[in-house]
Amino acid sequence: MIREIGKYRDGRIVYYVDDKTPSFGYIAFGVIDRGTNVLQARPTTICPQNCIFCSVDSGLKSTHRWAEYIVHPDVIVNGVVKALEVKGCSVEVLLDTIGDVLTYPWLIELIRKLREIPGVKSIALETHGFLLSKQLVDKLSNAGLDRVNLSIETLNPDKARFLYGNPAYDLRRVLESIEYLVKETPIDLHVTPVWLPGINDEDLVEIINWALKIGAGKKWPPLTIQKFNKHKYGRGWNLKEVSWSEFWRFIEKLESTLGVRLHWTMDEWGMHYARRVEPPFHRGELVEVEVWGRGWLRREYLGVIGDKSLIGVYTRRHHLIPGRRYLVRIIENEDGLLIGIVEKAIS
Ligand code: SF4
Repeated sequence: MIREIGKYRDGRIVYYVDDKTPSFGYIAFGVIDRGTNVLQARPTTICPQNCIFCSVDSGLKSTHRWAEYIVHPDVIVNGVVKALEVKGCSVEVLLDTIGDVLTYPWLIELIRKLREIPGVKSIALETHGFLLSKQLVDKLSNAGLDRVNLSIETLNPDKARFLYGNPAYDLRRVLESIEYLVKETPIDLHVTPVWLPGINDEDLVEIINWALKIGAGKKWPPLTIQKFNKHKYGRGWNLKEVSWSEFWRFIEKLESTLGVRLHWTMDEWGMHYARRVEPPFHRGELVEVEVWGRGWLRREYLGVIGDKSLIGVYTRRHHLIPGRRYLVRIIENEDGLLIGIVEKAIS
């Protein structure tokens, strides 16, 4: 079940998601299995930044969202255990979220619990680092975290505050914490800046040199440059987006100028395809859904199909009422992420 525990000034509801909730089916939280040995795990949607290029419109001034979620750690743990039963191989758990996972109040407890699961080979998290500190790095290390994927788009403090939409972003503390992480703990660092064409072209060179200088890539590749893409419900519609061929030309030029590698095979990442948790429902199928409350995006609702799966639900005409049941047609089930449209109310 979900329970309302707070509200943003803009009206967004914050829900607590309890431990009886299914782990699969919803993009905003829980576990996502895309058919490899890497499981995406999403225990929160909250973010303290407001990046001008955010692909999921997260953070302080979101315009598309009307709900946020904080999830009981066991929802993640149960999903990982279930996936392991299916996969027949060990997995990496990547805490990637549509917010920033460092805001998650039970992060250390969750990493400890994941560490105890036989078959979890590595645990990594993605962050922009707003909440990083040396003390937190020590806690993450003691809990058993293996890698941090740091998204950082500039080494200029003023530019960082602008790009990240929060005047409190303290770049110096983030860099110090990360350098401490690399030098003083076994945690590895993978640096993943987004290239914002015309905005941070030169900054990328500095970031690459910094990452290599401090020792990123102890065990995994040190750097990957991400492509900026415009998303229907993301921010950055006024920013420049380049084609994939232009993107790869830019990466190859950086590689040859700096003498570094910036893209990697799945093999080099230790990634491979693996059996997936099959979605219990198919596209076109009619299912009975209990609506629990708001979905993460405006007009979307969060529902559950028995104890089997979460689902994002839309309606053509009416508001949906939490606690009521609806007959829903599934229109999307890619990677087990279910989206449905209400056909009629049942109760
Ligand atoms: S890009 Fe990441 S850190 Fe920035 S607002 Fe989006 S979720 Fe938050």
